[in-house]
Amino acid sequence: MEIHLGIDDTDSHDGMCTTYLASTIIDNVEGVFQLPELIRLNPNIPWKTRGNGALAIRGQVDNYRLFKKNVIKLVEELREPTSNTGVVFFKKDPREIKPLVRHSRRAIKTTLDIDTAVNLGHRYGEVYSYGNGRGVVGALASASHRFKDMTYELLAYRHKNRWGTPREVEEETIYRASQIYNPLIWDTVDWKHKKNVITPNSPCPVLYGVRGDFIEPIEKTHNLIEGESVAKTTVFKTNQGTDEHITPMEIGELTPMTSCKVDGVVVEPPRSIKGGHVIFTIKDDTGTVDCAAYEPTKKFRNKIRKLIVGDKVVVYGGVKPNPLTINIEKLSLQEKTPKTKFVNPTCPECNRNMESAGKNQGYRCRKCKTTEPDKKRITIKRELKEGYIEVPPIARRHLAKPLIRMELGYDRKNKTVGGR
Ligand SMILES: [Zn+2]
Repeated sequence: MEIHLGIDDTDSHDGMCTTYLASTIIDNVEGVFQLPELIRLNPNIPWKTRGNGALAIRGQVDNYRLFKKNVIKLVEELREPTSNTGVVFFKKDPREIKPLVRHSRRAIKTTLDIDTAVNLGHRYGEVYSYGNGRGVVGALASASHRFKDMTYELLAYRHKNRWGTPREVEEETIYRASQIYNPLIWDTVDWKHKKNVITPNSPCPVLYGVRGDFIEPIEKTHNLIEGESVAKTTVFKTNQGTDEHITPMEIGELTPMTSCKVDGVVVEPPRSIKGGHVIFTIKDDTGTVDCAAYEPTKKFRNKIRKLIVGDKVVVYGGVKPNPLTINIEKLSLQEKTPKTKFVNPTCPECNRNMESAGKNQGYRCRKCKTTEPDKKRITIKRELKEGYIEVPPIARRHLAKPLIRMELGYDRKNKTVGGR
């Protein structure tokens, strides 16, 4: 019979990773399963655990009760005791049930409360909750999630005796793989900042994760990477790199803890504030809002500093309160304002710069005796080009769509490359 399973919030800052739990279920519990799904939820929620990712497993099992029993056994064995785990089971496809699909969409874009999620879960499926039950929100959302755009991630897991110890991976092999398979894989190496971005820093069971649009180059990349021996790998379908969290909004509609795409005009130029953050202000017909390139976005801030008043931009990012600020994920410079400055006029006869003829006396050429009343406005070349700029991979949010995907037009729904 058909089963759909959602799991969320099994990890803590001390360890575990819900992807590992999902992978363990697929490898150990009897049944025929599809690729597990890693669904990233609203990245702006302050109480999220690390990447705010929930997992879904779909497939066929012979014995539903036994399946449930075995899953719960593994969940209770592996979950971090301090986590607020939620597990939801469905016998009917929750992606066909409207209130559940709506819940899923909202869990990616806004905030939801636990009680509503628990009630919804009980109405259509079976709910198991631990701690304060916050994980039920995500478990329900992942099980009910419909892909509009989709990417893959291969996760390589460490042997258990290595969990919590420094990761041993040959950096050069990651760089080489990135050179070969980019852009079919992406966010592997941040070349500008000379950092690999596939190995996590937490004490979780993940050695590294390779992201991309197609399974084959992802697996080939994994095969090229050398380092400590890998316990196992699992490929996940994900909504990473899809911008699914983004909603087009006007400035007057911006709400904290959502993610927006806003059209505006720069009205206050970029300024640096304490901590190395760079802030500028934009305006539309409904209001003004600050936009921030925070310190961890590193060299991205240099580009942001080149914006000037009058530039027309589209800003993508998460909305933060007090004061209302957009945490920039990427920005499109739609129309740049000509940058000008005033200089002394040049002589029409000899082409030399004229000199001031005295206070309020205008300008004159000493040689030809020509005069001009005012300074001349000239246009200076802008260093910033029209088009998109984005935060570097080291600062990218899981859900944010990298420009490489936008440029190559990978918005395809069901990719079947590599025979899957
Ligand atoms: Zn002259």
